[in-house]
Amino acid sequence: MVKRLPKPPIRPRKNVDFDLVVERLEQHDRAFDHDLLRRVHEFSAEKHRDQRRKSGEPYLTHPVYVSYILADLKFDATCVAVGLLHDVLEDTLTTKEVLEKEFGRDIAELVDGVTKISMTEYVRRDQAQAETFRKMILASAKDLRVILVKLADRLHNMMTLEHMSPDSRRRIASETLEIYAPIALRLGMSKLQGELEDLAFYYRYPRQFAELDTKLRDKMRAAKSSIQRIARQLTRALEQASIAAEISYRVKRYYSIFRKLQRQGIDISQLYDFLAFRVITSDLKDTYAAFGVVHQNWRPIPGRFKDYIAMPKPNLYQSLHTTVVGEKGQPFEVQIRTEEMDLVAEEGIAAHWQYKEGESSDRADNDPNILWLRQLLEWQKEVQDPREFLTALKIDLYPDEVYVFTPQGDVKSFPRGATPLDFAYRIHTDIGHHCSGARVNGKLVPLKTSLRNGDMVEILTSPQRHPSRDWLNYVVTTRARSKIRHWLNTEQAKEAEAIGRRILERELRKLDLAPKKVLDGEKLASYLQREGLARVQDLYQRVAYGKTPFKQVIAALVDQDEKEAESGWRRAVDRAVDRFLPFGGKGPILVKGHGDLLASLAKCCEPVPGEPVVGYVTRGRGISVHAVGCPNLKKLSYDRERVVEVEWAKANEARVFPVSLMIETEDHKGILARLTDVIARESSNIRQFEAEAVETGRGLIDVVVEVKNRKHLDRLAHAIENVPGVLHVTRGSHAVTQSVRT
Ligand code: MN
Repeated sequence: MVKRLPKPPIRPRKNVDFDLVVERLEQHDRAFDHDLLRRVHEFSAEKHRDQRRKSGEPYLTHPVYVSYILADLKFDATCVAVGLLHDVLEDTLTTKEVLEKEFGRDIAELVDGVTKISMTEYVRRDQAQAETFRKMILASAKDLRVILVKLADRLHNMMTLEHMSPDSRRRIASETLEIYAPIALRLGMSKLQGELEDLAFYYRYPRQFAELDTKLRDKMRAAKSSIQRIARQLTRALEQASIAAEISYRVKRYYSIFRKLQRQGIDISQLYDFLAFRVITSDLKDTYAAFGVVHQNWRPIPGRFKDYIAMPKPNLYQSLHTTVVGEKGQPFEVQIRTEEMDLVAEEGIAAHWQYKEGESSDRADNDPNILWLRQLLEWQKEVQDPREFLTALKIDLYPDEVYVFTPQGDVKSFPRGATPLDFAYRIHTDIGHHCSGARVNGKLVPLKTSLRNGDMVEILTSPQRHPSRDWLNYVVTTRARSKIRHWLNTEQAKEAEAIGRRILERELRKLDLAPKKVLDGEKLASYLQREGLARVQDLYQRVAYGKTPFKQVIAALVDQDEKEAESGWRRAVDRAVDRFLPFGGKGPILVKGHGDLLASLAKCCEPVPGEPVVGYVTRGRGISVHAVGCPNLKKLSYDRERVVEVEWAKANEARVFPVSLMIETEDHKGILARLTDVIARESSNIRQFEAEAVETGRGLIDVVVEVKNRKHLDRLAHAIENVPGVLHVTRGSHAVTQSVRT
């Protein structure tokens, strides 16, 4: 026997017309502009005149019903007007300009916002995409009312979904489950959420819905007498405790039961917890008292008690929940809350919306959450710019993310602070690598611009453009950062190959050998094999980085024991230099012809931008950069071949350089404080600070400061010299000293 599908769980009310909408609206908003609303209705009727719904009804029934839902939720007249007009931009030839002229900017903007959401196609990909899409809808709507109208629109469409084709039903029902019901939940509108979900469940999984429906009805029939006994007992117990409360019970939402069965992998026969009692009290202290009464009469299940009054859910839901064991061991849930909390639980943001009119506001004055929402609503009144209002709300909904569009309308989410570069790398690595500029909302912006919610981002590329080290400062996503790093490293490897090769070629030429012949020869091949290197390029890199001394390579290639030729003294100097030149910092130095490769600043002389510098190819530490005139360098320059030309890269304002200073002072009281003060005033940071008394009346201070360049250093040294009690300032640490004024 083929089972009949039960009727849809929710059907539209009959005889909903414009007069009923007005009636509903008048119940909570007496001051609205009747004439305007009437004109809005007529306008919508005129525009949709020749259109029909799939059901065959005149199209106008839809916008009227949507506005009825909004009025019923006690939203304001503007909201209701937007409900009436919400489809005119999408489905008729009306333009936004016409709406603005007829009904003002506010309504036109709102209708436009609803239309934009409707036009953004949701293509189901995966959970993450659904989440992104939800957030985007919340984040990009300029006014919260846009979302409310969209939800009402969706509810009516779900109520009339039977007239659509089976394919459309499934698609729309899925979208409702994945996008709109969770948004309703996020806004605390659990009644709307439940209705959307149950309707979507019905159309998306009809067989499961029918099965659940039958079995739950059976269960309820079987449990009917015990449920009624519980209700009576609960009523009596509360009366005895002098707690005024309304008691009701209901079967939990079908879809939430369905999800629970799926989640726990159980059959409906194993489901006991399908019933919820609700105790609605008139004030707060009664909720906890009622809770005590429940636990006195029935045994609670440990771990099932939740105090959402003390700790409201993010959507401001407040209630006490507990599950207790009834007769025959059957558990049931009890939810206890005040009338006010119940309204919020059902209607969420809609309940708060009503406070806008200010009538029922006093009751909520002490609730911090309600205060928060009321404050937002106050702002909305004051700022006149609904965008600011929603920005505030958005921050609380999803604090750490921004949602932006591709030119194709796809939504991408990023951590706050993300820039067009992050965006470019998200689209494609090559787009990132060749990113030459960006347009945000049609305007050219610097690459380091932070993206904002709803921005439409377009990336410009150029084949000549490549990543630079600066870019690492502009990105916040791990992906972009690692792609840029990877590119820089690869590029650096290529440059290192070129340098290593040049070093070897030069050495070979010095020996009057043809570099090409040697470097392509047999000896090299066997040398590579011995060293376990796959390619000659690897050897070049090792030479450039100093990991393999070039002399060792040359020796292996030309049958000449170079090690003998090198005196012990030279090796000692090399080792000493190596100690002074820690390899690491890259960036501020250009090795002529090789970009910012492999250069590190020598620690002995601590050169700063603005000073003439020279590079020295060290053994094992890459190229180290010394100040011209560094005493160490004089010792080093015995090997002219290892000296390379370098220059400062273009100044990077943010970059600072450590410089050691030795300050000789009279042992004045408070001189340290004055010194640190002066250093701070000259906008320099102190990295290290050591003071000692050398002899009576004298002090010696070793300080490492950070400066931007030579000018900055001079200014700082001058300021320090002028501090009363300072005798001398010299540059350098104990190891190597040098006058500041060289
Ligand atoms: Mn619609």
